[in-house]
Amino acid sequence: MIRLLLIGPPGAGKGTQAALLAQHFGIPAISTGDIFRENVRNETELGLKAKSFMDRGEYVPDSLTNDLVRDRLSQDDAAAGFLLDGYPRTIDQVNELDEMLSEQETQLDVVVQLTADHEELLRRLSGRAAEQGRSDDTPDVISRRLSVYDEQTAPLIDVYASRSLVAKVDGLGEISDVTARIVEVINARELS
Ligand code: AMP
Repeated sequence: MIRLLLIGPPGAGKGTQAALLAQHFGIPAISTGDIFRENVRNETELGLKAKSFMDRGEYVPDSLTNDLVRDRLSQDDAAAGFLLDGYPRTIDQVNELDEMLSEQETQLDVVVQLTADHEELLRRLSGRAAEQGRSDDTPDVISRRLSVYDEQTAPLIDVYASRSLVAKVDGLGEISDVTARIVEVINARELS
């Protein structure tokens, strides 16, 4: 049983690693970005509200995001552990998540900080723009997303570090090597 959070800038490889780690540990990967994109595709009320923020590279308001995660974490499959990818991203979301978990009498086990230098992030995000055509992978929006991360999300690492939860992992190199590094730091904490 493990409750894991992946944090890192856009392009660090969180989505890719989340899927592989979820498989490895047999827990659901909960990606707020994926859930928002699915809602946008299906033109749900949430999707219509989220789209304008996403297309500008801004964060979807905390109230919408927190409700979505509260709902997802209350589903049965999350009771035996989970991996959060892309949430929390603001201090308000950290506080909300703390509350959700304390209501369930649980807490996070580890926060994996995935790192990559700025040039590599830009290279990966522009490559993805060409491959996947994500509407938020255009050059202007990419640069906005990177600065929003620096302003609003990077400070969360200190918050979790003060709780001794952060394990920093180099996100460069082969995908399988990065997965192995993450599994190693998690196992080193004797959690799995
Ligand atoms: P991602 O796929 O994680 O890069 O997320 C894509 C976009 O979805 C972000 O740029 C935000 O607009 C929105 N989003 C995803 N997760 C969150 C979150 N925790 N808080 C606010 N907005 C989010």
